[in-house]
Amino acid sequence: YQSLAEADPEVNKLIEQETWRQFSGLELIASENLTSLAVMEANGSIFTNKYSEGLPGARYYGGNEYTDILENLTRERALKAFNLDPKVWGVNVQPYSGSTANFAAFTALINPQDRIMGLGLPDGGHLTHGYYTAKKKITASSVYFQSFPYRVDPKTGIIDYPQLETNANLFKPRLVVCGGSAYPRDWDYQRLRKIADAQGAYLLSDMAHISGLVAAAEQNSPFEYCDVVTTTTHKTLRGPRAGLIFFRKDKEADLEARVNAAVFPACQGGPHNNTIAGIAVALKQAAAPEFKQYAKQVRANAAAMAAVLFKHGYRLQTDGTENHLILWDLRPIGLTGSKVEKICDAAHITLNKNAVAGDTSALVPGGVRIGTSALTSRSMVESDVEQVAEFLHRVVQIALKTQEEAGSKLLKDFVKAYEGQGEASKLIVEL
Ligand code: PLP
Repeated sequence: YQSLAEADPEVNKLIEQETWRQFSGLELIASENLTSLAVMEANGSIFTNKYSEGLPGARYYGGNEYTDILENLTRERALKAFNLDPKVWGVNVQPYSGSTANFAAFTALINPQDRIMGLGLPDGGHLTHGYYTAKKKITASSVYFQSFPYRVDPKTGIIDYPQLETNANLFKPRLVVCGGSAYPRDWDYQRLRKIADAQGAYLLSDMAHISGLVAAAEQNSPFEYCDVVTTTTHKTLRGPRAGLIFFRKDKEADLEARVNAAVFPACQGGPHNNTIAGIAVALKQAAAPEFKQYAKQVRANAAAMAAVLFKHGYRLQTDGTENHLILWDLRPIGLTGSKVEKICDAAHITLNKNAVAGDTSALVPGGVRIGTSALTSRSMVESDVEQVAEFLHRVVQIALKTQEEAGSKLLKDFVKAYEGQGEASKLIVEL
């Protein structure tokens, strides 16, 4: 048996380079985090060899004695991490990712071509919540279901609940989806429940971005009001890349069977048991007191960064943040999200361009999204992230200057200083 370095030096080198990239730069992508070594060890374990179609105790393959224990342990830990009563809630831990978790949950709850309402993508929603463009139905959730998005109020950036209610009365959805990828505020689940109930609709929360904060009671819990809750496990929850589906067992007797059948065999094949092992470890960590402190710090760091950006006079969507992310509206200063993302890349600050409320083009979004989960995993506190926010301020000032100065000399100097000649020239052409 050869080590990776011996068997495949090319891939080994890429892993080393990526490790260096992740730890030498500043990771501000709100959907990412730095999971623990223990989670990575479990994720890279020998459980990857095992097929286990079915559920614990009812598999289509032999040899699942340890896999069954592992999956049951993961289910128990998932319920415990979110303080859920096993008599009321169940969970399926097999989804390969957040997208498959969502599609399986939709499959379990409603029929093909039933109506769904989710937060629009440019308003901070996720693709899998029914997104389509004027030209094309580009997501399975819009192809297989009829979708009508709800929006944020373009003036405040907050979800326009009254308009959602009015539109729900007209559209009559069978499923209302809440949760998003770029929404810096908490959710009013009670209000959403009322809107869903008026239509006899299910309420599903996709808490992918905030699940770590929910586990630590740093955000409202969707479990009190929703029928089904989905999540990824790799964002604020800090686990491996995967998904979970929680379902109420006390509302409809067959919901558990429907969710389980929707995951397998409807949408997936054999579970990725190595990933499930990683989820189990992450959930144990998420239930520990240190994780509560971590989640608190994630929010405190986001608030601290927002305060610095405010101090410099920038506009933030919703005027701030209540969770781990900030949506920075660059339109008032005449910059695009793409430009700031590219210059940040050159400075080894990783963030992503993002639509802000009222954007008309998805191709040229007017803002960037900033998250504090990964930096907080590197033990950064307010004073550290304030410095990072100052770096961002400098990046933006450079972007503004280069926009004014013919030949972009300033940008060239900046990029050279950080990146070396080859990459820099490519970047300048792109800009
Ligand atoms: N749901 C939300 C709210 C997300 O933000 C994401 C990904 O960013 C997903 C689902 C999809 O997760 P995955 O990339 O694991 O499929």
